[in-house]
Amino acid sequence: MARYTGARCRLCRREGIKLFLKGERCYTDKCAFERRSYPPGQHGPLQLRVKLSDYGIRLREKQKVKRIYGISEKQMRKYYDMAINMPGQAGHNLLQLLERRLDNVVYRLGFASSRAQARQMVNHGCFLVNGSQVDIPSYLVKVGDVIELKERYRSLPQVSENLEVRVQKGIPAWLELEPENFKGRVKALPSREDITMPIHESYIIEFYSK
Ligand code: SF4
Repeated sequence: MARYTGARCRLCRREGIKLFLKGERCYTDKCAFERRSYPPGQHGPLQLRVKLSDYGIRLREKQKVKRIYGISEKQMRKYYDMAINMPGQAGHNLLQLLERRLDNVVYRLGFASSRAQARQMVNHGCFLVNGSQVDIPSYLVKVGDVIELKERYRSLPQVSENLEVRVQKGIPAWLELEPENFKGRVKALPSREDITMPIHESYIIEFYSK
């Protein structure tokens, strides 16, 4: 299935949780979920009373994570296959792989206000990884990788604003940011504690392993 390009706020309402897909807007009273926290559609409010089956709970958890990271079903399945073949807990591995995506790292470092914006910037070739251009959003960063905004994009006011906001909110412990040099570094691989969104990763593993 292709990547979803429709109204992103509908996804939060569908999943019943704020997924923070629209940057700073998500923190304002313009957030659609704050105003209508029930599923979209004519019978949306009624769906709040529907009890989900075990399968439904696992399906929704998988959909939620796909939507947070903005990835397709095919990519999600690929990460699952990788996760179960890695040492350690498959659920933790899965989340770690998703966090290591270059678009997510660009977002976490604060160069972009959302993962969608980060993906667009990576696609446009705005970043160097260890000195070479990488324009693949799914590129998986490694410990020691240095992610740097190309000089010609450093004067964009939006980037400075995003970095300022990120510095105030804090950088995840596994990353390091030098905002004055428009540069970040991967200090360690992300641990489970670094991922603060409420995610039941074991449900996703159970969903695919059936
Ligand atoms: Fe979700 Fe953000 Fe839209 Fe609120 S503003 S519904 S958090 S995408």
